[in-house]
Amino acid sequence: MPDTPVIEVTDLRKSYAGRTVVDGVSFAVQEGEIFGILGPNGAGKTTTVECVEGLRVPDAGRVRVTGLDPVADHERVARVLGAQLQQSELQPKLTVREALDLYAAFHDRPLDWRPLAERLGLTDRLTTRFAELSGGQKQRLFIALALVGDPRVVVLDELTTGLDPRARRDTWQLIEDVRAGGVTVLLVTHFMEEAQRLCDRIAVIDRGRVAALDTPEGLVRRSAGATGISFTPSAPLDETALAALPPLARAEHKAGRVTLSGTDETVNAVITLLARHHITAHQLRVTDATLDDAFLDLTEAAR
Ligand code: ADP
Repeated sequence: MPDTPVIEVTDLRKSYAGRTVVDGVSFAVQEGEIFGILGPNGAGKTTTVECVEGLRVPDAGRVRVTGLDPVADHERVARVLGAQLQQSELQPKLTVREALDLYAAFHDRPLDWRPLAERLGLTDRLTTRFAELSGGQKQRLFIALALVGDPRVVVLDELTTGLDPRARRDTWQLIEDVRAGGVTVLLVTHFMEEAQRLCDRIAVIDRGRVAALDTPEGLVRRSAGATGISFTPSAPLDETALAALPPLARAEHKAGRVTLSGTDETVNAVITLLARHHITAHQLRVTDATLDDAFLDLTEAAR
C-alpha cells in the first residue's frame, strides 16, 4: 500500500516512576519525508523516538515502523531502521574502520561505507580509536553507522550537536542527499535553523504532548504578533498614537528608534500613521516571524 505511513505513532504514553513524560503523542511520517521533532529539554522527544526504535516499551498506544511493531518485531525493524547511537554504546578502543566494518556486518545488504566516510570527512580518521575522536568526529561516525545498513528510515537524535557551522551545513546536505535517495528521516532537533532548512513537517512536543504539527512555514504563520518593525522617525512620534496601533504585541522607544512587533496589519497601520503625521521613517526594517518565535509561542502558551 503506497499510502501506509513509514512511521505511525498513535496515542503513545510512557511514564517513569509514576511521572508521565509522553502523554498521548500521535503522528505519522510518510515515505521520503524529513519529519522533525522539536521541543524544549525534557519534553519527551527522546522517549518518543526510542519507542519508535524499539528501545523502550510504551505503556500504552501503538507504534508501527513500516507496519511492524518495533518491540515484538525488533529484528525485522532493525533491518529497515537506522538509528543514531548514544556515546556509551560504542567501545572506546574500536577504530573508525572497525566500527564501520562491524556495523556493516550487522546488515544483509550494507552500503559501501567508504564513500559515506569520505562524505562525512572521516577518511583520514579510519585508524583512530573512538575514544580519541573529537566530539564532532564522533557525531559524524554515528551518522555513518546509522546509514551504513542502507536503511529505509533513519532516526537521528540531536544530529548536529557539537558540530561546527561548516560541518553542520555539510551534514544537512548529506541528510538531503540521503532523503533524495528515498530514505525517510525522523529528526530530533533543538536547532530552529536545522528544522526550518531540513524538515517537511515538524511536530512540536511540549510536556509530553504534540503542541502543533505542521510545515515549518505553517508553524511560523500560526505564531501571532511576531512581525518586527523598526525605524527612526524624522520627528517625535506620539506614544499614545503608537500604543493604539492594531494589532500590537510590543512597542519600544530607545535612542530615537522605535521598535514594534505585531502582524502584517501593524506594518500597514504604522505606515498610514506616519503618513498622516508627515513623518518619514528612516532605516525602516521589517522582519518576518521565525520558527524561533513560533516555537516560543507554542511551547510557552500554556506556561
Ligand atoms: P527530551 O528528549 O525531550 O529532552 P526525554 O524523553 O529525554 O526528553 O525525557 C523526558 C523526561 O523523562 C525527562 O524529565 C527525563 O528526565 C525523564 N526520563 C528520561 N528517561 C528516563 C528514565 N530512564 N528514567 C526516569 N526518567 C527518565
